Amino acid sequence: PTRVRIAPSPTGDPHVGTAYIGLLNYIYARQRGGQFVLRIEDTDRARFVATSEQEIFDSLHWLGLEWNEGPDVGGPYGPYRQSERTEIYREHVELLLANGTAYKAYENAEELEAMRKSQLAAKLPPRYNGAHRELTAEQIAAFEAEGRAYVVRLKVPVEGETAFRDELRGEIKFSHNNVDDQVLMKSDGFPTYHLANVVDDHLMKITDVIRAEEWISSTPKHVLLYQAFGWELPKFWHMPLLRNLDKSKISKRKNPVSLIYYRQAGFLPAAVLNFLGLMGGGMPAGTDKAVQAEIFTLPKMLDEFKFDRIALGGPVFDLVKLKWLNGEYLRALPGEEFFLQLKNVVFSDEVLRAIAPLVQTRIETLGQFGDLADFFFRDDVTPAQEVFVPKKRTLEETMAFTGEMLAVLEGCEWSHDALDAALRGVGTAKEWSVKESFMLLRAILTGSTSSPPLLESLVVFGKARSLDRVRRFVD
Ligand code: ATP
Ligand code: GLU
Repeated sequence: PTRVRIAPSPTGDPHVGTAYIGLLNYIYARQRGGQFVLRIEDTDRARFVATSEQEIFDSLHWLGLEWNEGPDVGGPYGPYRQSERTEIYREHVELLLANGTAYKAYENAEELEAMRKSQLAAKLPPRYNGAHRELTAEQIAAFEAEGRAYVVRLKVPVEGETAFRDELRGEIKFSHNNVDDQVLMKSDGFPTYHLANVVDDHLMKITDVIRAEEWISSTPKHVLLYQAFGWELPKFWHMPLLRNLDKSKISKRKNPVSLIYYRQAGFLPAAVLNFLGLMGGGMPAGTDKAVQAEIFTLPKMLDEFKFDRIALGGPVFDLVKLKWLNGEYLRALPGEEFFLQLKNVVFSDEVLRAIAPLVQTRIETLGQFGDLADFFFRDDVTPAQEVFVPKKRTLEETMAFTGEMLAVLEGCEWSHDALDAALRGVGTAKEWSVKESFMLLRAILTGSTSSPPLLESLVVFGKARSLDRVRRFVD
């Protein structure tokens, strides 16, 4: 039976790439009467974001890509959260150590840094030099006696190459010269992506690994791991990456990539799925009625999508096209449905309750609500003119400082106090006063220099949409 999975990492806002790969996996499973599994790959504790997992669930539910097994719904091959499977990975590392396909490496941070520096100086690609591949029992005993920590590395054969079949590309070969002795388990006893991913795909009986193209270079490591365990390989399908208009890999600097943005900005899930279904060319090409051929619902995709039609040229994620498509969907809604969309998404109790206290202290008639709160309801605003004729700063300085603020805001927890501290911090560092920096950000966010309080407005407007405005300004 067909079993596929998506394996997002909870490292930030749910990514539009996750929805794209999720849709493809969902279609693949449904077309074959198979199972679609959601696994959370949360082993990277440094990049872990506590709210991210729930947001992944919410975004996928919003799109209607329901999974058969996962951390929240359970299933026969759980747990489905990697942080709850560390014991399983440890046992599996022991198997590899015992059969000689992995080894312990005891280098400390300084030694690894020295290795990297000498490779850099010799213009060699940075990679592990294999120094601890064949330690003697005495050397190991000495390191252990010193109390040194170790990592476990995969013993990649020195000679030859690893080949695998990609279902869209045919055979792909990697010379072992280009495959590092990958770390499988870190010194803290936590697995790396490669180990956990392979062990889980095997134990969860995944038949087809359908993921983004950026993982092709990891696949030889995975294949070597399957071989080291003596396991059968799944099929690998690497999907073309979504691209910005300039053909670079889609990035938040050039397109909103957070699913939260699309939801809050008022895109309909059906339009987003339709748009993602157009990427890669799995649907039949339009004939004479080209426009109609581009509009299809999920059931139609289940009927007509073909994986062997997928083209490898990078599909362009064109926001203008997505908006056009969304418009087609909105305009086609029955009037009552459209009214409900406005009421539930734009003017929900939740939204109005959050905005009300921000305008109440300044209002004279209820009719002024729109004047005070308009920026919450606009797709974009024109930054107040004051920004372009600053008294003290040149335009270049203003743009550079906005870039600094953006970088800080991207990594910031979205709460009043955290935003306050972060903005004050970057202001102090760059010698912009609180008054100046808050005024600038307020003008970018609201289009006005007299608006409801900045920090509260940022919190209510949300991270995804606030950052989108700042990015559009920086562009
Ligand atoms: P960053 O921008 O922080 O390097 P990223 O853009 O790669 O990260 P991730 O959070 O690592 O984003 O990716 C989330 C998921 O979306 C991953 O499964 C990744 O493979 C997939 N993904 C990322 N970029 C693309 C893309 N351009 N096309 C298709 N899938 C993508
Ligand atoms: N955790 C990886 C990600 O974030 C999974 C990649 C894969 O599908 O193997 O996309």
